[in-house]
Amino acid sequence: MTHPTRTRRCTVDDCEGYCIPPSRFCPAHRLRFLRHGDTSGRTIRLRELKPFNDLAERLLCTYASRPDTAAAVQWCERLLTARLDERTTRELARLRRGGVTGADVLCAGLAQWAYAERFPASLPDDVRLTYALGRAVVRLRRQPSVFTRGSLTKRYSRYVPGAVFRELGMILREALCLFFTRLLRLHERDREADADLRRAIREGAPDDPRNILHPTREAR
Ligand SMILES: [Zn+2]
Repeated sequence: MTHPTRTRRCTVDDCEGYCIPPSRFCPAHRLRFLRHGDTSGRTIRLRELKPFNDLAERLLCTYASRPDTAAAVQWCERLLTARLDERTTRELARLRRGGVTGADVLCAGLAQWAYAERFPASLPDDVRLTYALGRAVVRLRRQPSVFTRGSLTKRYSRYVPGAVFRELGMILREALCLFFTRLLRLHERDREADADLRRAIREGAPDDPRNILHPTREAR
């Protein structure tokens, strides 16, 4: 006899799992949907984000004197004290207690944004990026809880509901997406200008007969 709940397949393509009503998804896909807003979402590992965190730090330092950067830092500072959904407000309070600043929040968001721009297949610019932005902020401080049973003591990260990622992510995205994009374009422009200068230094004047070190050998 078929199990009464095992009658409908998960609605995700090629998934062999059964859904548990009223969900349209099998437990695995349901969990991804709740944590990432999409059944194909995943958490970008800290290792993968490392170069983008470094980049974000560098950019915010380079462009620190711009008024939009200063305003963004200040806005993030305020976000940390904002009154939002109860669970989100609790997470923000925890981050404040952990010493997280507006600049940290901005940096975490920019790193996530830069990653998504560089690897859109891994983190598409849709609801998954929204959740990822919120998660990046929540992850600024680990939240170890201690679990004790008898002689066993275990530290584990307390569960943060997906709704917190979504709420924070939506707020960050709305306020900062243009700023993030602008900063990354500025960075590209500056890099190109730098490359032009280096080329000019290296090559000298190509049709100058006195230019004995003609750069053809070095041409990229
Ligand atoms: Zn499934």
